[in-house]
Amino acid sequence: MNKKDNLSGQQAVTILGSTGSIGVSTLDVIARHPERYVVWAITAHSQVDRLYQQCIIHKPRYAVMVDPQAANALTQRIQKAGLDTVVKAGLEGLKEVASMKEVGTVMAAIVGAAGLEPTLEAVKAGKRVLLANKEPLVMCGHIFIEQAEKSGAVLLPIDSEHNAIFQCMPPGYHAGAKHSGIRKILLTGSGGPFRQRDPSTMTDITPDQACAHPNWSMGRKISVDSATLMNKGLELIEACWLFNVMPDKVQIIIHPQSIIHSMVEYLDGSVLAQLGNPDMRTPIAHALAWPDRIESGVEALDLFQVAQLDFEQPDFGRFPCLALCYRAAEAGGTLPAILNAANEVAVQSFLDGQISFLDISRVIEHVMNSMKHNEASSLQAVLDDDAMARKTAMEFVQSRLRVINRA
Ligand code: NAD
Ligand code: MG
Repeated sequence: MNKKDNLSGQQAVTILGSTGSIGVSTLDVIARHPERYVVWAITAHSQVDRLYQQCIIHKPRYAVMVDPQAANALTQRIQKAGLDTVVKAGLEGLKEVASMKEVGTVMAAIVGAAGLEPTLEAVKAGKRVLLANKEPLVMCGHIFIEQAEKSGAVLLPIDSEHNAIFQCMPPGYHAGAKHSGIRKILLTGSGGPFRQRDPSTMTDITPDQACAHPNWSMGRKISVDSATLMNKGLELIEACWLFNVMPDKVQIIIHPQSIIHSMVEYLDGSVLAQLGNPDMRTPIAHALAWPDRIESGVEALDLFQVAQLDFEQPDFGRFPCLALCYRAAEAGGTLPAILNAANEVAVQSFLDGQISFLDISRVIEHVMNSMKHNEASSLQAVLDDDAMARKTAMEFVQSRLRVINRA
């Protein structure tokens, strides 16, 4: 049965990673449109309190906790409160709520490679998939595009830049399709909190400083990625898959105000841009309702207040992660998955106080130089190299810790 029939015209939405920054913004937009959407399932890794609060407010049919102990704790609280929500656990629970027949839309908002399997499950089940979780696309974008073509799933980008590019694409465009008439994609980025910081003080950067983004409020992993510009590099790879272009067709432009979210340059000289305040509820509302338009709760853009829009070349010397991303994008195969895995380990080690900010790119470069990458011929081939890259990165972090401890 179609969920629309089942729920008197509403679309049933599963939100993978509902307790995170994107998840919370998604629930905010959905709650503004009870006549259009119903929250079918919400999920989190282990934040029992937050998921419980979301169950009380949004009354989903299902709630999934990846951690089994957290799932037990949530079940007890749900029963005590007399809610009807069914609690499920583990990766299997995530995959189940991503593909249930009643579900029309899946918001993929888990952070990192952990989102790969449940998101792919939603794609295989032919859902409308709202892709915030960029790391799986970086790892194996071709598998997502192929599976979407097979199942009829609709992939809609949530990353603000990719959502902007999608909005500037020709009418009828869909993810992964070939297109003509386009000269370049202009991928904008704010440059992060350290765009102008004295390079000699970069070693002293603390996790809290790295997470204090000037324009966007986001989870800690993507905030660190924005500070190293790894995020822009991952977005380059993401754009290549979503818009079927080679890396040399994507130009990165630093735009500190984060008002233009990206642009598309056409052969006739036209450049189309999408503008808005930096608030993820705009791309979320766009993709939820596409091709309709709905209220998102985002304040109207006041161009007189913005007054000025600046553009700069990215600084590859200050931000070595960018060049590593171009290298991975051009090499293809499993190298983007290796880069992503090494970055996930490096960022966590930095957030845990084990390595310095400048060590992040060193870990990634070490892993990329010491591993031979392979064809990304299957999901298993990608996952094998992801696992090897994590092991190599952890060993490198440990070796640096030993050096620091001896000093
Ligand atoms: P976040 O850290 O705020 O939230 C992550 C969510 O994933 C949480 O609900 C958490 O419980 C869940 N999670 C964490 N580890 C998990 C695991 N191992 N298994 C299952 N669930 C797990 O992250 P975020 O900032 O909301 O970002 C989510 C994704 O969206 C990332 O891939 C990020 O790159 C992308 N994105 C975020 C923004 C933004 O503004 N926050 C913008 C563009 C893209
Ligand atoms: Mg982005």
